[in-house]
Amino acid sequence: MAYAYDDQNIFAKILRGEIPNKTVLETEHTLAFDDIRPQAPVHVLVIPKGPYVTYDHFAAEASEAEIVDFHRAVAKICADAGMTSDSGPGARFISNSGAHGVQEVPHFHLHILGGRVLGRMLA
Ligand code: 5GP
Repeated sequence: MAYAYDDQNIFAKILRGEIPNKTVLETEHTLAFDDIRPQAPVHVLVIPKGPYVTYDHFAAEASEAEIVDFHRAVAKICADAGMTSDSGPGARFISNSGAHGVQEVPHFHLHILGGRVLGRMLA
């Protein structure tokens, strides 16, 4: 079955408070916390609280309230970190999705990376 959600994944445990995290922002539908293995000076993971496996799953199945809340959280994190792309230096947004995306944790998450100039990913 597509998008079968495993509630034993590590981010589900973080959401249930079973594993600690360094919270950056929490809203009604969204949690953001520091990545445990940061790849840049700023490396925040943003996750919806609902049981969505991948970005396309979230985009297809989440309510409009969840989708808006998630993206407004992303904007606030960037603003709070001083890395918006209009008045600040910008950032990178990545969501690894499924097998070809080499997704490690099967709960949809957006990586926000910034705080330095990042190497080009695409030629
Ligand atoms: P993915 O490859 O699924 O996009 O990335 C999963 C990310 O989750 C990785 O960057 C990894 O460092 C991070 N991660 C894995 N386990 C934990 C954890 O227990 N706590 C936190 N904060 N991050 C984790």
